[in-house]
Amino acid sequence: MPLEMSLDCDTMKKADIAILFDRLSDVLPEPRSELEYVNPYTLLVAVVLSAQATDVGVNKATRELFKIVDTPEKMLALGEGELKQHIKTIGLFNTKAKNVIALSRRLINDFGSAVPEDRDALQSLPGVGRKTANVVMNVAFGHPTIAVDTHIFRVGNRTGLAPGKTPDAVESKLEKAVPPGRKLHAHHWLILHGRYTCKARKPECPNCCIRDICGYKAKTTFEAPLAGGTKARVKKKLGDKPRPKRRAGL
Ligand code: SF4
Repeated sequence: MPLEMSLDCDTMKKADIAILFDRLSDVLPEPRSELEYVNPYTLLVAVVLSAQATDVGVNKATRELFKIVDTPEKMLALGEGELKQHIKTIGLFNTKAKNVIALSRRLINDFGSAVPEDRDALQSLPGVGRKTANVVMNVAFGHPTIAVDTHIFRVGNRTGLAPGKTPDAVESKLEKAVPPGRKLHAHHWLILHGRYTCKARKPECPNCCIRDICGYKAKTTFEAPLAGGTKARVKKKLGDKPRPKRRAGL
């Protein structure tokens, strides 16, 4: 997480924040997590594994794992050694395997094998911090939480939507700034915008759907912008992929 981020931007006005979410909503009306999962338990495991790793890398490792393990009991039966074999391509896999086994045991012993919906209970699980709890609460249970990852931290600062020096500061500003009707999907809209358009090294400002309201003072220019703009490119990136598996009702 880049804790140092240029704050050389104009703070976004309330009217422009509404426009920003209107436009991101036009691009993707129903944004979804790019992590693959089949139920709240596998979502929790996937999010724990995704710390400092890409969703693509986690999905590669969990695709086979979740075919045989979709409950805490099955995870304990698999065991830490076998789990490591499945996730050894993911960074920090030794620590993550220990945490997944420990959190599975806690779920069985203290939560009737179910993933808790409550923030404090989630954060009491091994390997689960505020960001992971926010993702699980949002994706599995539909709470309007915003987990500030590296993409949201960057977009919040560059655009002037929610400037802050720490992820917690950005999260706090987003909680106040995001219009109530946009809070449920704000997390994924901002992540996907950061992942595919407002990229870390070279943001694609000429193709950006919020360029005119973005407060970033160092917008990039391309000699030959990609045809089709943000909507076409994000849809191209996401549209050909199978949607993450999810349980009915999620
Ligand atoms: S205009 Fe550039 S800096 Fe601003 S949100 Fe778009 S890509 Fe990011």
